[in-house]
Amino acid sequence: MTAEEVLEGLDEEQREAASTLTGPLCILAGAGTGKTRAITHRIAYGVRAGIYDPHRLLAVTFTARAAAEMRSRLNSLGAPGVQARTFHAAALRQLQYFWPLAIGGTMPQILDHKVRLLAEAARRLHITTDRASLRDLASEIEWAKVSTLTPDSYLEVAEQGAGRAEPGGVDHRTFAKLYQSYEDVKLDKHLIDFEDVLLLTVGILEDDERVAAQVRQQYRHFVVDEYQDVSPLQQRLLDLWLGGREEICVVGDAAQTIYSFTGATPDFLLNFTGRHQEAKVVKLIRDYRSTPEVVQLANTLLSDRTREQARLTDPPAWSDPLRLVSQKNRGPAPQLTQHADDDAEAAWIAEQIGVLQERAVPLSEIAILYRTNGQSQAFEQALAQAGISYQLRGSERFFSRAEVREALAALRTSSLVEEGGDTVPEAVRAVLSSHGWRREAPETTGAVRERWESMAALVSLADQLDAEREDFTMKAFLAELEERSAAQHAPTVEGVTLASLHSAKGLEWDAVFLAGLNEGLMPITFAKEQKEIDEERRLFYVGITRARTYLSMSSASSRHSGGRGKRQPSRFLRPLRRELGLEEPTRRIAPSSGSKNPNSSARSKKTATCSTCGTVLSVPTEVKRRRCAECPARYDEALFERLREWRSAQAEELEVPAFMVFTDATLEVIAEKRPSSDEELLKVPGVGKSKLEKHGESVKKVLAESA
Ligand code: ATP
Ligand code: MG
Repeated sequence: MTAEEVLEGLDEEQREAASTLTGPLCILAGAGTGKTRAITHRIAYGVRAGIYDPHRLLAVTFTARAAAEMRSRLNSLGAPGVQARTFHAAALRQLQYFWPLAIGGTMPQILDHKVRLLAEAARRLHITTDRASLRDLASEIEWAKVSTLTPDSYLEVAEQGAGRAEPGGVDHRTFAKLYQSYEDVKLDKHLIDFEDVLLLTVGILEDDERVAAQVRQQYRHFVVDEYQDVSPLQQRLLDLWLGGREEICVVGDAAQTIYSFTGATPDFLLNFTGRHQEAKVVKLIRDYRSTPEVVQLANTLLSDRTREQARLTDPPAWSDPLRLVSQKNRGPAPQLTQHADDDAEAAWIAEQIGVLQERAVPLSEIAILYRTNGQSQAFEQALAQAGISYQLRGSERFFSRAEVREALAALRTSSLVEEGGDTVPEAVRAVLSSHGWRREAPETTGAVRERWESMAALVSLADQLDAEREDFTMKAFLAELEERSAAQHAPTVEGVTLASLHSAKGLEWDAVFLAGLNEGLMPITFAKEQKEIDEERRLFYVGITRARTYLSMSSASSRHSGGRGKRQPSRFLRPLRRELGLEEPTRRIAPSSGSKNPNSSARSKKTATCSTCGTVLSVPTEVKRRRCAECPARYDEALFERLREWRSAQAEELEVPAFMVFTDATLEVIAEKRPSSDEELLKVPGVGKSKLEKHGESVKKVLAESA
């Protein structure tokens, strides 16, 4: 392939970018406009034209996968041998190479996970914390390090202005101490972490002229893709590599900034011409990836925010993004559907994938994208059930996750001591409440939330099966989990991609399903400030623009089967619905998973109503106490507290967990009805013969005392 032939596959603007081989260059363009394509062609063209020595050019991209993709494209364009790496991989190579010269001795090992060292750091400071919080504290350390903050400067920054959210349940001062202690433990053990790789490389390049000169001699030209998500630390490294030279090409789309929470910022992209006065700027607006239908929705999503700007008081910066223009033929109308619950939504998506398969869309060209990794379980299950293979990107399969394995172990243990009384969902809730589950989703980001999502998926499964099956037992539940785990572990070849929206950046598929588009997930609960909501909107934008032809957006009205449907569809869907000409969401309330089993008449049999307001109840705890969550308690709260104290003492004496004595729901009914005889006690849901025998006398005594 000649140099000129390399340029043939490009449009006019792309060609202009690709043939500008020297001097600072900035390609600012929207999703799917061929940014990545333009820079790979630019590199290949430069190499073919003899301007670039392939060994002296460094291309930096966001993920290892994107780097591999870029190398293979360069190969096929006739430019093999170019280095395409992530910042991390490039820094690591340099650090390994220069360590003996610049620092001496052998390079320390790199830590896999921060949590263990951090736990030790916490112990040294006598701070008690749990595993999920430790993971959030580790993320905060990562943020501080890529923002080039030391424990001292962290404190200053964290307490400035409105302040940074307090991480992992500790205040900023304590966090700064933990951060310092973590660094000390790491040094003592002669280890370095992921961020140290960049920090140390930066340190060596700043302090050692010999090393800096050698690196600059090696690399003459630099190219950075996805530049809108560069962190201050990566930028510092890039500046050191450049050493004042101007041979730099950056590519990005500020509307796709989705890693601000890790310390990335689009400011470097947006101020590029300020730092490089001579820079040439190329803008691309032709979208080669997606159909006009998909592009229109992407444009609407962003312009909806632009319209809002004037109405907001003190709004964060929002520059009007370029309107994309699709270059493709018209395609199918995007779908917008709403479902009864998560499982119904997943089942519907699996069904749609079956339809696409019939239309000869390969599975590898289909993706299901969601906001949090915890959401994957419903899809893993629905796909496994439909016999459709899949692969997860950027996270572990549901049943391989540490918290899920822990939860299953706890459920197994509890099932050995189970003796009836509680329904399975109650027992599951009780057991999992010591593993991170509570009724409401936590208002935090990161590991605590992911953990909760996993627990909530198990709770919801218990509710669903309990509603479907008669005489559902813990043993049956565990057997079901085993079965599902085996199905989800089946080795897969080519399959549907399941991925979080974050890990989908830069990628594309023929068909994309954006699932779980509900308030609380999109935007996620913890996005409160306008700038956080804006980032969620960009994340949704990234999702929409991954689709070439088919786009489906769906939401579910409740998390679990039989729920009361109180979840709202995402606010971001409103303008899209107008665009699609749909006043109301296309209500395709697929049959809730609970009624899928034709043999199941259990649901109707179980119909119960709230004794105060008459709402039909289906959440087992609510059924049991015959009161919905909204209606006020009808029992004496002081008596309820007294009963809880009694339960703790009783549990301790019998050496069983408290819920094995009576669950909260049972105690509430006891507090309400104040049963005074064995017959009355037996009428309380959750009190059977064996419980009456064990606890009857004792609980009657408490009631008598408080009468
Ligand atoms: P993102 O912002 O999502 O990273 P991008 O701007 O990097 O997107 P690319 O991935 O480079 O876009 O291109 C999107 C799709 O359009 C690819 O399939 C690419 O091959 C195709 N494409 C880009 N430019 C052209 C062109 N001039 N002719 C034909 N196809 C093109
Ligand atoms: Mg790209």
